Amino acid sequence: MTLDRVTSRWYVPAVTPLPQLDRLLSNLWWTWDADARRLVESIDPSSWRACKGMVGDFLARVSRERWRRLRDHVDFNRGLDETLERLDAYVGAQDTWWNEHHADALPGGIAYFSMEFGLHEGLPIYSGGLGVLAGDHLKSASDLGLPFVAVGLFYREGYFHQSVDETGRQHEVYTARTPADVGLQRALGAGGQPLEVFVPLYDRYVRCEVWKANVGRIPLYLLDTDVAGNRDEDRWLTKRLYGGDPHNRIGQEMLLGVGGLRTLRGVGCQPDVMHLNEGHTAFVVLERLREELAAGSTRDEAWAEVRRSTVFTTHTPVPAGHDRFWYELVDNALGRFVHQIGLYPGEVMDLGRVQPGHDEEHLCMTVLALKGSRAANGVSHKHGEVSRDMWRELDGTGTPTIGHITNGVHAPSWVGPSMQDLLDRHLGPAWRRELPDGRLFGRVFDIPGRDVWEAHNEQKRRLVEFVATRTGERIPADALVIGFARRFATYKRGDMVLSHPERLAELMGDPERPVVLLYAGKAHPRDEHGKSIIRNVVNAAGRHDLHGHVLFIEDYDIGVGRALVQGVDLWLNNPRRPLEASGTSGQKVSMNGGLNCSTLDGWWIEGFAQEPRAGWAVGSPEPSEDVARGDAEDTDALYKTLIEEVVPTFWRRDGDGLPSEWVERMTAAIAVCLPAFNTDRMVADYVTAAYLAR
Ligand SMILES: *Cc1c(COP(=O)(O)O)cnc(C)c1O
Repeated sequence: MTLDRVTSRWYVPAVTPLPQLDRLLSNLWWTWDADARRLVESIDPSSWRACKGMVGDFLARVSRERWRRLRDHVDFNRGLDETLERLDAYVGAQDTWWNEHHADALPGGIAYFSMEFGLHEGLPIYSGGLGVLAGDHLKSASDLGLPFVAVGLFYREGYFHQSVDETGRQHEVYTARTPADVGLQRALGAGGQPLEVFVPLYDRYVRCEVWKANVGRIPLYLLDTDVAGNRDEDRWLTKRLYGGDPHNRIGQEMLLGVGGLRTLRGVGCQPDVMHLNEGHTAFVVLERLREELAAGSTRDEAWAEVRRSTVFTTHTPVPAGHDRFWYELVDNALGRFVHQIGLYPGEVMDLGRVQPGHDEEHLCMTVLALKGSRAANGVSHKHGEVSRDMWRELDGTGTPTIGHITNGVHAPSWVGPSMQDLLDRHLGPAWRRELPDGRLFGRVFDIPGRDVWEAHNEQKRRLVEFVATRTGERIPADALVIGFARRFATYKRGDMVLSHPERLAELMGDPERPVVLLYAGKAHPRDEHGKSIIRNVVNAAGRHDLHGHVLFIEDYDIGVGRALVQGVDLWLNNPRRPLEASGTSGQKVSMNGGLNCSTLDGWWIEGFAQEPRAGWAVGSPEPSEDVARGDAEDTDALYKTLIEEVVPTFWRRDGDGLPSEWVERMTAAIAVCLPAFNTDRMVADYVTAAYLAR
């Protein structure tokens, strides 16, 4: 077996009284198929809303009486049968994009490594944009039919759940989940036995069990060290995502790189291409080197072979954001492994140094990944430039020139149900197959503005309900709803729009034209500045003159994100340039007809250039050299844009009460950004520029 695929006969554990339902739930496909999702929610809608997408919790709450009724419910069972037929057709399809364009290429397939995967709120092994991007990449690779497998870690406590008290203090709550709770199954080795892999670390071997999630056609393997026989500190390695110190971090990265590749070998995979998503994964390069040398290659041959088969995506536009490990740590943690490769620790250090032989220089995972790859890319046009600049010192050493592949998002996961219905009616359901190419979407311009506005307002009503459930506050149905949701990292300047109360009052003060600002987001547990931004937001929400106008929704996750991006009128994004490598949340909003109001950074530089009507560009293209001055200028520009352009455009209504200019802009956002910034297009770009490029 060269490539492990999800076939129509995968193993289905019994978790509900309905075997057919078990089968549907054992493949994450149901989470991104709109009808399948509606069917699962219909099992018990009120329990579903209470469980934040945690399927195990949800199923446990469904009463025996309800199960009995479902078993005899004709419509439900017919819906279930039809949905399963579609799932089987999906998994077994031969007429895929891949088969149409590249059928015989890469028989061993592509293996994708990532520290986090954001597939659904019910599988909490992601923290933010990087993870959601990886999840969307897998879903599109599945939709397009790529020969693809993926590897990551299973964190029992995942990232934290957030609660915020009335003073604005963030509290981190960790909830342990078993693999069964989140629908994972034991991965089996090529001989059918439960797979286990061993990773040399410090003076010992750490044992990993391996779990598997079916992501459409793609198996995702997740390593877990919280197993019998491991020491406590090793059991801790996969407890939390980004939870530990550098000792924990280097251990996690060894599991992912070395253990990840051993997992693939264990299930019989011999991928032609290894795709390293972000520097965390760079130890794959060392394990590949070990394999090649063990097979008898010379060093030059081994290194050439490793590079021939590896591609790398970098995501971090600031030097301090890249993982770096000092000599003693590498020597301690990796000493035994480095010896097995047949190298000295100093030689491994040099592979991760810009200047080999510089003893003070730490091992940088990004440098290791760049040196070990034949192709490398940043995640937007601007970020490609910034990355080339950052690693200029490596030019001439044989590392690949860093290009760019602009991020996207998985349209079926992020476009809301009413917008999907609208596209189905006007473009036909096959619009989903046209995403990699995109020509079809010019026809969005022919959709009557009233229909676009209606579909948006249906989704907005769902958001209003969601906010009422989560916060107890009811947003006026006709309000201009502005969203800001993402990690509260300093550079994203989450409280910028709150910084001048008198201008905020000017923005929000007209009782005839209500404006509501919806916030959500977590700060990293050790990021005190990020936490102070949350305090500022919660304090603003508590001010009597802003009561009901600024709302904070706790515990941001994919579910909260989905509700927001599908229902808001306007999305606010004001990172310090050029620190947002891409950003993807604004892309989700565009596809749903929401407008963006953003500084010119990351993907928005491209989005705004392609379709200026899709929103507003805040501030000048080039920021001021001085950070404080730049912040002040951007703040001023942001208020100006909101007060002088956004608000008047939203409230300017024609004879039928339609905000015609606003709706024209919505239509343009969908028509242009949906084809340009979806992950089918992005994965197709990876195929050409990375997977098949030589
Ligand atoms: C899309 C998404 C992000 C990325 O948001 P940015 O604005 O690009 O930082 C982060 N977290 C979640 C849960 C998302 O869905």
